[in-house]
Amino acid sequence: MARTPIIAGNWKMNNTVAAGVALVKELAPLVKDAKATVVVCPTATALAGVTEAVKGTNIAVGAQNVHWEKSGAYTGEISTDMLTELGVSYCVLGHSERRDYFGETNEGVNKRAHAAYAAGITPIICCGESLEIREAGTYLAYVAYQIEAALAGFEAADVAKLVIAYEPIWAIGTGKTATFEQAEEVCAHIRKTIEAKYGAAAAEGVRIQYGGSVKPATIAGLMEKPNVDGALVGGAALKAQDFAAIVNF
Ligand code: PEP
Repeated sequence: MARTPIIAGNWKMNNTVAAGVALVKELAPLVKDAKATVVVCPTATALAGVTEAVKGTNIAVGAQNVHWEKSGAYTGEISTDMLTELGVSYCVLGHSERRDYFGETNEGVNKRAHAAYAAGITPIICCGESLEIREAGTYLAYVAYQIEAALAGFEAADVAKLVIAYEPIWAIGTGKTATFEQAEEVCAHIRKTIEAKYGAAAAEGVRIQYGGSVKPATIAGLMEKPNVDGALVGGAALKAQDFAAIVNF
């Protein structure tokens, strides 16, 4: 079964409502014939405007996080109901910036992933090692552990529908893309880890993105790798022309 590639743009803390709407309006005609699933992930304040602006296009909208509780005293958090009401269908979870700056843990990522999936929102579960772990040579085991923890409690049939983003921290926002071989090595290891625990169908279905300074010039080489099914794009997702060039690899 061939997997449909998925290219997602993580806008991080960029773009007001007006800027986000303008960006997707410029992007829509440029990606209308894309073979890949196209996702943009605005900030929470821009979700309503952007979901409205992409109606009738092939652009899906993702949030940058979601809480596991339905409602309550969780200042600063957003629930799945708040996202589904807007038509948000993806959610980035466990991004390294959330883990490093806001103390998110594997356990929290797992809870968020279950809540999102149960609400019909496809989690894009991020994993990836620091430079220290890369240089220590323990990165495959580290990433495998992150994935096992994030997927705990999921059924094999559900794992097949998830999206994983392998994002080595040393390559995010640094301009330092992992080589195609480095990306493939870890994405293949993630798939093997999933196969060992959830079986061949889950491993064949799950889509695994690479993320970390992806640019128009690097996407084609990445996509030639058999275990790389797409990209999670930060900086280059903020310009319609660049993001479109990546989507239309
Ligand atoms: C990201 O934010 O997930 C990311 C990969 O950023 P960048 O493409 O800017 O490295």
